[in-house]
Amino acid sequence: MDVAPKRESRSGSTLFVDGLPPSFTNLQLKELFAVAGIVLWSRVVAGATGQGSGFGYVEMNTPDEAQKAAKTFDGYKAGGCSLAVMISNRAPQALQAERFLELNLGKAFCELCIRSHLETAASPTELLDGFSYLYECHRCQAICFECHKLTQVFAITPKFSAQD
Ligand SMILES: [Zn+2]
Repeated sequence: MDVAPKRESRSGSTLFVDGLPPSFTNLQLKELFAVAGIVLWSRVVAGATGQGSGFGYVEMNTPDEAQKAAKTFDGYKAGGCSLAVMISNRAPQALQAERFLELNLGKAFCELCIRSHLETAASPTELLDGFSYLYECHRCQAICFECHKLTQVFAITPKFSAQD
């Protein structure tokens, strides 16, 4: 029996972080918030120039840790910037798709199964963004890890194991 793929982000555990210095990396974000607990997933949203856009998302292991992190880092000074941190109900769909594949690294899923793990899009534009993200992933014809259908599947890494 396979371990079930990780589900949608638990409500109350995801933080929206604004006011990041443009040079701030995802690793720095992860390490900073690790002070408050276990960081499951984090992402500095890329800006147009290749640097950070100044905001990102951090998903903590529990809502309690997210509350603690929000208290600790709201107003925190980083590289001349002052962070604004708040609990976020949901990350944009493209990031949710990225998060799902990152947390299930080494496995490949069809679009329908990936979408079943995403929270509802706020707008049709957001839905399209999520879709175009998938086309930046490695894809091929293989068996989806979840529904076991032979179809077009997506993964972050080129090497993944399809379901037997
Ligand atoms: Zn599937």
